[in-house]
Amino acid sequence: MTTYGNAGKGESVNEQGASMGKVVSLCKSRGFIYPSSEIYGGLSATWDYGPLGVEIKQNIQNAWWKEMVRRNENIVGLDAAIMMHPKTWEASGHVDNFLDALVDCKKCRSRFREEALEKIRVERNTDSAVCPECGGELTELRQFNLMFTTQLGPVEDAGNLIYLRPETAQGIFVNFKNVVDTSRVKIPFGIAQVGKAFRNEITTKNFIFRTCEFEQMEMQYFVRPGSEKEAFEEWKAKRMAWYIDQVGINPKRLRFSEHGPKELAHYSRAAFDIEYNYPFGWQELEGIHSRADYDLKRHMQFSGKDINYFDAETNTRYIPYVIETSAGLTRSVLVALMDAYHEEELGGNGEIRRVLHLHPQIAPIKVAVFPLVKKDGLPEMARRIEENLREDFATFYDQGGAIGRRYRRMDEIGTPFCVTVDYETMNNRLVTLRLRDSMEQIRIPIEGIADSVRKESLLYRRL
Ligand code: ATP
Repeated sequence: MTTYGNAGKGESVNEQGASMGKVVSLCKSRGFIYPSSEIYGGLSATWDYGPLGVEIKQNIQNAWWKEMVRRNENIVGLDAAIMMHPKTWEASGHVDNFLDALVDCKKCRSRFREEALEKIRVERNTDSAVCPECGGELTELRQFNLMFTTQLGPVEDAGNLIYLRPETAQGIFVNFKNVVDTSRVKIPFGIAQVGKAFRNEITTKNFIFRTCEFEQMEMQYFVRPGSEKEAFEEWKAKRMAWYIDQVGINPKRLRFSEHGPKELAHYSRAAFDIEYNYPFGWQELEGIHSRADYDLKRHMQFSGKDINYFDAETNTRYIPYVIETSAGLTRSVLVALMDAYHEEELGGNGEIRRVLHLHPQIAPIKVAVFPLVKKDGLPEMARRIEENLREDFATFYDQGGAIGRRYRRMDEIGTPFCVTVDYETMNNRLVTLRLRDSMEQIRIPIEGIADSVRKESLLYRRL
């Protein structure tokens, strides 16, 4: 058996990563991501996931769920409502503290988050207080809350004011007691959740990197006070390994970055970000936070309910400490696409192959099936093969155009395996399996396609 591995990743991938413009254009032209309500001119910083985008997003979400919930006996899932009792956000500290500071340039009208401005100053080694774009004068800092508000019920009055959740984590904290009482979890244990979150962000450029509506994959891991340091290190390592092994991200473009005392959120004891080297610099992909007992204590205080945990092993009652892993699902889609995008010259004749070296586990289509020609029973045979594979994999059937062109179309959307039926197949039941990254072609029996695809995908994961 030939090895598939992650040939095409590593050294042969453009070391600087793909340019954002190329990825945005591929996403639009091939149906990954479109501007939201585009026929009306779009809406600032909101995006719709097209037929391929929704598959890749779903695949990343499934890979995360499998890693966190299915593989860990002591982690359970949850799906809490987006709209929550407004007291939740007073208790969590978001009403008072979820603020961003905003600065405008009086000359070129560029708008900056204070944090971003500070980062530019550090990078340029300057303490200059002028606009980094044009050197113009900046306005004073203005603070504002990032939470969106809306009304619950038909009457608009202050009593009906609610918030769209700015993070999924609080849905987990307010359900802590429910989960403990109903699912026989014992410390240490985790609760995991994937869902939408909303933030009225000041600066939203860079495609889907920072949007007002986005999805998070969060897990709160509850531990005995005193064991939080160990759990923090454990989850730091596990989360980094997940991006490399399961999402297939090039490790050279990932790093940890520790929050300094000024960056630490109000609830946080220690925090590390997993950062990715985007075309616009190193920025966050996931945050890992040691939140101590802040959230549960505050909810106990604001709700008046006793949510202490009874530890039968030590015969004590206490509020557990929390380690949080907080990943962006939509931001992970961006990273997967940017990291996978590659252009390479074929055969020295100037022909360029655009290819997405996506991990097979997250590729929107796993197997494409083609008849070599459109006649003599080949299409029927190819169709039957494709229909049989549908049960196990996301498949695609295509009989139009030269075979090379059909391979290229699949390369562009990251399809790792193509199967071609030719005249010989009709006699010996052998097909060609073509591997995306190495472009290698091997002959295998029809009955072995599903096994080969599975084996090659597993191999990819291990390398
Ligand atoms: P940033 O510094 O980039 O604003 P943050 O520190 O506010 O992020 P967290 O509150 O830790 O982010 O959220 C956890 C994860 O949720 C982030 O690592 C990111 O992947 C994702 N995320 C946060 N805000 C957004 C957003 N506006 N758009 C897309 N993803 C986001």
